[in-house]
Amino acid sequence: MSFEFEGNSFSPKVCGRPEFGFYAEGEAMWSLIAGNPLAVSGGVDVLRADPALQLTPILVAQGGSGGTVEPEFYRATVDKIVAGVREHGPFDGIYLALHGAMVSPGVTDAEGELLEQIRAVVGSAPVIAVSLDLHANVTPKMVSAANILVGYQNYPHDDAYTTGQRACDLLVRALHGSLTPVMRMVRLNMLVPVPGGSTLGNAPLAEVKALARSLETGAVVSTSYFTCQPWLDDDAAANVVLAITDGDAALATHTARRIATVMWDLREAFVVPLVTAQRAIEQALQAVVKPAVLADTGDSVGAGSSGDSVDVLAALLRYAGDRKCAVSMVDPGAVQQALASGAGSTLQLQLGHALDPRQGTPLQLQAEVVSIHDGKFHYRAGPSAGVQGNMGATVVLGIGSIRVLVASNGTYEYADEQFHAAGIDPAGFDIVVLKNGMNFRNLLQDGSAWFLVDSAGSSSANLAALPWKNRSTPFWPREAALAMRLTEA
Ligand SMILES: [Zn+2]
Repeated sequence: MSFEFEGNSFSPKVCGRPEFGFYAEGEAMWSLIAGNPLAVSGGVDVLRADPALQLTPILVAQGGSGGTVEPEFYRATVDKIVAGVREHGPFDGIYLALHGAMVSPGVTDAEGELLEQIRAVVGSAPVIAVSLDLHANVTPKMVSAANILVGYQNYPHDDAYTTGQRACDLLVRALHGSLTPVMRMVRLNMLVPVPGGSTLGNAPLAEVKALARSLETGAVVSTSYFTCQPWLDDDAAANVVLAITDGDAALATHTARRIATVMWDLREAFVVPLVTAQRAIEQALQAVVKPAVLADTGDSVGAGSSGDSVDVLAALLRYAGDRKCAVSMVDPGAVQQALASGAGSTLQLQLGHALDPRQGTPLQLQAEVVSIHDGKFHYRAGPSAGVQGNMGATVVLGIGSIRVLVASNGTYEYADEQFHAAGIDPAGFDIVVLKNGMNFRNLLQDGSAWFLVDSAGSSSANLAALPWKNRSTPFWPREAALAMRLTEA
């Protein structure tokens, strides 16, 4: 089963059943997850391959990312999962695919509470295995309630399916008695700014990954490093390392400490320079390989932001208004105005900052309605590969040579699926703006110029600038001069 959502404490976006579009209960989940490279699909494929096992489907729910999950929906889903486990048991093992950074008002540890409730129903004997996103906020409650927690290795995430497989390979071994999983966690007093947390090339997290993989030998059966979703206004949220061994608690702790120490030592290398929109555009215009890519890091929909900022668009109009630029954004009211005006028409409208007015000032514009779309698309790759995304009614506005994709709903960006669904091929543009802090890299070719724009929003990469309320404990990089502190559980 699965219950996946990435929260953001600073985002006003509240998600409930409509946002959990990928949802099924009982037998209906088999057809929903079949053929998708999701973690839950990978896990189920491993379990299905074992003729000794009999599977019982409970529920799958995937809500992407946003601010918070409606407490009613969170409670109802947890209740359904727990009731399903109670009614269909007893079980020898349980597998769940979770993101690990869910936020729901009034709930202090969303995944920890879910796992604790499942454990209370099944007792101590069944093996509970969980696959997690690399940005999971792993807590002691999760570690004590589950036997096996395994995180994605890669960012950008292209290994959800294999992570589900890895978690369930260990689960199968434990069910057959050939593994006694003992898991230990080490928490670090740091958070990694997301744009610096890639595992591509020689990035610092690639070094951590290589170390983690090299330590998976002998009695060490799994190591995971979690850079944690950093926009969690929660004192417990931190970088965490997990190690699972075959029956050796001291070795698990030693292994996790070793990886955590390397993460800490690399911390300065995780900071990638941010630039102003003006500076990024000036340099992008000099780029030889087209398009140059600007990452609107503060307004990353995949990190929970509203996606409605027009700050980078305003800079394009000022500094690159005569060049071919493509931007995407969310503004349901502007879409309705454009639909009423009709394709080919020209209209005056206010654009941007309708969903999160705290983050900037709308633009007053004259634009042409270039085209109208239903907003549906399929992810070609990544953790949602094969899954249909839905931007809702979508229009492309033309402002001179600039094309603005305006969607009714914000959707997770993996590459350029949304642009193509709206008839925009980024290859034909000088500058393309994406609203994410990492996945824009999936668009880059050899020699592409790319820039991380220091933009305002709920997913600002400048962690020290965010309006923290609940984090009293110092953490790097918000507090720069800190000594390493490892907490074990
Ligand atoms: Zn992630």
